[in-house]
Amino acid sequence: MESRYSALIVVVIVAATLIAGLVVGAQRDDRSGPVDLVVLNGRVFTGAGREPAEALAVRGHEILRVGPNREMKRLAGAATKVIDAHGGTVLPGFIDGHVHFVSGGLGMDRVNLLDAESLDAIGKKIREFAAANPGHPWVLGRGWYYSPFPGGLPTRQQLDELVPDRPAYMTCYDGHTGWANTAALKLAGITAKKPDPADGAVVKDPKTGEPTGVLKEAAMALMSKVLPQPTRADRLRAIRRASEEASRLGITSIHEAGTGEASLELFEELRESGALNVRVYAALSVPDAMTEADADRFDALRRKFAANPQIKVGAIKVMEDGVIEAHTAAMLAPYANNPSAGHANYAPQELQRVVAMMDRRGWQVMTHAIGDGAVRMTLDAYDAAAKANPAPAAGRRHRIEHAETIDPADFPRFTRQNTIVSYMPFHANPTPAQLTVWTTNIGPERAARGWISRTLQQAGARQVFGSDWPVVALDPRLEINMAVTRRTADGLPASGWLPDEAISLASAIENMTAAGAYASFDESKKGRLAPGLLADIVILSKDVFAQPPARFLDAVVDVTILGGRVVYEGVPK
Ligand SMILES: [Zn+2]
Repeated sequence: MESRYSALIVVVIVAATLIAGLVVGAQRDDRSGPVDLVVLNGRVFTGAGREPAEALAVRGHEILRVGPNREMKRLAGAATKVIDAHGGTVLPGFIDGHVHFVSGGLGMDRVNLLDAESLDAIGKKIREFAAANPGHPWVLGRGWYYSPFPGGLPTRQQLDELVPDRPAYMTCYDGHTGWANTAALKLAGITAKKPDPADGAVVKDPKTGEPTGVLKEAAMALMSKVLPQPTRADRLRAIRRASEEASRLGITSIHEAGTGEASLELFEELRESGALNVRVYAALSVPDAMTEADADRFDALRRKFAANPQIKVGAIKVMEDGVIEAHTAAMLAPYANNPSAGHANYAPQELQRVVAMMDRRGWQVMTHAIGDGAVRMTLDAYDAAAKANPAPAAGRRHRIEHAETIDPADFPRFTRQNTIVSYMPFHANPTPAQLTVWTTNIGPERAARGWISRTLQQAGARQVFGSDWPVVALDPRLEINMAVTRRTADGLPASGWLPDEAISLASAIENMTAAGAYASFDESKKGRLAPGLLADIVILSKDVFAQPPARFLDAVVDVTILGGRVVYEGVPK
């Protein structure tokens, strides 16, 4: 009897405790502050293979809850901002894993030829820009493709016709070839007598010996010397414009792939003024023959930004080779149409020295390696660093940028040191303009191993996606569309380019969100929609999971939220 009575007491106590707990739990939301924002009626992406939620709530900078509409409605108070997602997909803010924000922003003040795929289109864009900007002493532009020009290269006469009154200079989409008009050549002192610099060429007409207007590789520096240099104010404005553009496209974080102290100060100035609408993870460009003193300087810069709420310094950027289009990517075997096998910027021992030195100091290494030879040298350097140094506290997350061709023998090597492949899927946008030169230069066998997202995923390698803007457009949707469909925005080719390498929409989205957070050691802060993480959120106009993946581009960005603050709102539906 007595024991039964005490058992009953225990049950009552336990029940009371549970109820009290529930009540306290429910009240905690009200007591510890208001709910600032709720997003309702969405399809809230909670990760690949997981059920989506309907809604989420934000307090301050962070996500408070993810769950059903009724729960978030209950949390909302009179002062809560309510956003109706109208059934659209709610994603973590996009993280661009590889971008050149300053040059991208500066490029917004130049002719953009990236979407001009015919001679007519190129001519129209340059002519219109020149007419619209009569005060510009130079007409500058970038982004032209080789294929619209007969013979694959433009001429100064073509540009003279478009810009007869001023110097004009346009760089190729891959950044490795320049196109000048006659006035620009004259200013740069480039005549028939100008010899080729080492690692470059002033292309000359075989009949007349006169420069054609094309400057290859190192010869571009002859022009850079006379180009109007952007002022500090120009650069600050460029970052501001780039930041606005990022918000419009749903990007809340960027990895700036190669920067230095001067640019970081500009980012910081903008942040202090409240106008920097992205979180920045910076990779510092390594100088030639980097010394321990250089590394000390890098360490100091990392410390300087250690407590910064929006800017983080944690990586170094190493350029190990060039690009396949210009035969400057370092291949294991010669090119298909050229006796050379490209060129590695660092000898293996020098690459290993720099990587080991920075690995020891706890830096992440981002190595630009496009050719299969450069990729192997980089993997070797990461292995050597792991052998020479104890594992850093946060573990190793070194990265290979681009990795456009990888030898099959190296497929399994990425997991060994947890090396991240940093892909820009839209670089493989399968238009004739973009891919023909690439595939011709390396031949069909190696071209069949381009941007092998699925193969690497199956090999267990991590991937992070980025744009490499301004090399191609900044819009993350283009990266995701390409990774998922292996087709152009217009759906070509219908069967897809290397369609077996396509990955799922959910995986592609994660590579453009969660993977970017992981790749900057920030997965406990952002990259997913979960309580306690930063409220970096993008709302798309459609439920992208309810339609065929090929229609992903139908969805546009409606709202971008950075740390709980709405930084972009499109035209309301
Ligand atoms: Zn880049």
